[in-house]
Amino acid sequence: MTPSVPGLPCPRCGFHIATTLDLLLAARPFFCSGCGLQLTLNAEQSQGALAALRELKQGLDAATALRRRHPG
Ligand SMILES: [Zn+2]
Repeated sequence: MTPSVPGLPCPRCGFHIATTLDLLLAARPFFCSGCGLQLTLNAEQSQGALAALRELKQGLDAATALRRRHPG
């Protein structure tokens, strides 16, 4: 499963908040462009989610590296 636009739906208004894996992994706060809600990934409470994100990012990085090594 690879969403075309990285991000997540706002828990308050449902607006698709665009964010990046790097931003999430850095546990940086981000804002909903729809309602202005500030979201912060709690690193301590989100160990499982962060681990899943890291695996996802590793998979994406590996796929990108493969594509670079074997163009076409
Ligand atoms: Zn919102």
